[in-house]
Amino acid sequence: MGKLVKVLKLESGSQRGANQNRSRALVAGGAGFLGSHLCERLLRDGYEVVVLDNFHTGKRYNLNALLRNPRFTCIEHDIVDGLPSGLQCDEIYNLACPASPPHYQADPIHTFKTSVLGSLNLLELARQNKAKIFQASTSEVYGDPFVHPQPESYFGNVNTHGPRSCYDEGKRSAETLFFDYSRTYGLDIRVARIFNTYGRRMQPDDGRVVSNFIVQALRGKDLTVYGSGLQTRSFCYADDLIEGFIRLMNAPSTPAHPVNLGNPAEFTIMELATLVVDYTNARSKIVHRPLPVDDPRQRKPDISFAKANLGWEPKVSLRQGLARTVEYFDTLLYGGQSAKGA
Ligand code: NAD
Ligand code: UDP
Repeated sequence: MGKLVKVLKLESGSQRGANQNRSRALVAGGAGFLGSHLCERLLRDGYEVVVLDNFHTGKRYNLNALLRNPRFTCIEHDIVDGLPSGLQCDEIYNLACPASPPHYQADPIHTFKTSVLGSLNLLELARQNKAKIFQASTSEVYGDPFVHPQPESYFGNVNTHGPRSCYDEGKRSAETLFFDYSRTYGLDIRVARIFNTYGRRMQPDDGRVVSNFIVQALRGKDLTVYGSGLQTRSFCYADDLIEGFIRLMNAPSTPAHPVNLGNPAEFTIMELATLVVDYTNARSKIVHRPLPVDDPRQRKPDISFAKANLGWEPKVSLRQGLARTVEYFDTLLYGGQSAKGA
């Protein structure tokens, strides 16, 4: 692996003055699935964008088109190891953290450090720069919820010592740090609790359910449903989510609590499997595999706050989003020539 994708040109204060009308956003985790969509959107909105990413689950090719843009820079860096010196920015988005259970469980201690030490490093940077800072939190903070759907006021039901805890508790601790920095230093923070999101640029080996099912179906393999498949999730299409990020970041003031962002349409995993088989015309069978430990039985966001305060709600239905995501994987894996595309 090369050290840097592109060398950051650190500017002196006076050089930065020449660009003072353009805001600079720093995106930690910008080479990942959601991060690359966010960078694309920020460049479209006129920002200078600097990515920090250790390429654990992110890919250079997610950034290929962006690297041609003179307003885009990417630095290969792990946010656990402090931050490169001299970074200047107006806004920070913290998306750095593996999000798929097999990836975040592969090195649980590093996952926890990423959420806690990484967030701490970025919060200090925000303080030094007087920058607004966004945290990608998660519906996992609700654990295996007893309240359904989940409003932001629900404190959750999370196991502190199970295999998912490194992610869930890391994200919960990060929320604590964000709100303590806001109370202590008056930092302008935005914390989004993101519910299961899918779409273009998920990795074929990501391990999350939507990409697993689509890739299995396109390859003519059986779809692996964990447990009975009666557990539920609510799936949001990436474009809808990124619009929610931008609206939350641009809201006039710091909301008093984290904000749920997700699509409230709830499906069982069996329903999802059936939809994927339909959309891919696959001959695949559905097979059952053991349910992972602490797998939440139900999940559905209450998005009343985002609707009322950000004027945001998802527009893309699961059927529309799946059709687009199937096209994406079909092109990626088979140049659009799978049995489905043929
Ligand atoms: P992803 O795994 O595709 O992206 C994570 C990115 O962070 C990758 O580019 C990875 O290389 C980078 N990264 C990981 N650890 C790092 C570190 N220590 N230093 C620097 N970079 C690091 O996942 P995603 O789906 O794009 O998720 C982005 C963020 O949103 C994550 O923080 C995740 O927890 C959160 N989130 C996502 C979902 C979802 O459904 N997609 C749901 C809830 C929360
Ligand atoms: N799942 C499944 N088959 C797979 C991958 C996941 O049945 O190949 C299930 C998983 O057990 C969970 C749901 O799908 O109940 C969503 O899993 P994912 O890893 O996508 O997200 P999370 O569990 O973090 O919500």
